[in-house]
Amino acid sequence: MSSPSSPPDRATLLESLRDYVEQLREEGLEGLPASTTPAPGAIAKSTAPERAPRVPIADSPKLEVTPGPSIELISKYPGLEKTSTLEELRDFIGECTRCKLAPCRTNLVFGVGNPNAQLMFVGEAPGADEDARGEPFVGRAGQLLTDIIERGMGLSRSDVYICNVIKCRPPDNRNPEPDEVAACEPFLMRQIDLVQPRAIVGLGTFAVHAILKIKTPISKLRGHWHELRGIRMMPTFHPAYLLRNPGDKRLVWADIQEVMKFLGMPIPRRGGSAT
Ligand code: SF4
Repeated sequence: MSSPSSPPDRATLLESLRDYVEQLREEGLEGLPASTTPAPGAIAKSTAPERAPRVPIADSPKLEVTPGPSIELISKYPGLEKTSTLEELRDFIGECTRCKLAPCRTNLVFGVGNPNAQLMFVGEAPGADEDARGEPFVGRAGQLLTDIIERGMGLSRSDVYICNVIKCRPPDNRNPEPDEVAACEPFLMRQIDLVQPRAIVGLGTFAVHAILKIKTPISKLRGHWHELRGIRMMPTFHPAYLLRNPGDKRLVWADIQEVMKFLGMPIPRRGGSAT
């Protein structure tokens, strides 16, 4: 046992650093600037795409939705568009080696829930618990998502569909890389096409940025409807972020209430958060 004055061990330091970096990501920081002074001859250029204009939705004049990207990814893998059920899609993916994450996984984490769900939750990528069990959103963050669904919304976890953008765990829980997103994203697009939910909840910075192809901080995206493959998507904070920042549960609950209103669900009278 270490004395009070002992320095923290390496594992503790790494864990603290990982939590801090995750918090910065949720707050929208994508990387540290190399320098605040442009190099001689450098051309100032914004990497952030222009925001799409907001357009009103006919069936809900008070709400607006930002059109999403046009993603024609199904044709990337011939035959993918012919899968007509989630089981067929899972068979199509098989023991996938289409990206460099394949050797890193214990289990490929496809997705769980109602194949005809009205509501779909999409997260980033499997973590250690998910990789071990082959199921998305288990462990502490998963339990918080389950609480939001069951205690907050009054649904069962099996009423909704839950999956990730990336199906295999990145080593050391690092961010998925662009080539990995490009390789795996067609499977998510096909999942969305097959489930055809009425609404999608995008969980956390990475998932929302990967799906919408924008870099706007999640704190600005949340609370506003976006569109993906003709379906409304509500971005909100990731449950893992809420474990470290429980004060923001009320913001997630506000986003979830917006989704419930759209789905015609009764909003329970309760305090400021779902859990
Ligand atoms: S992350 Fe996706 S594309 Fe990469 S190996 Fe896993 S299933 Fe295949």
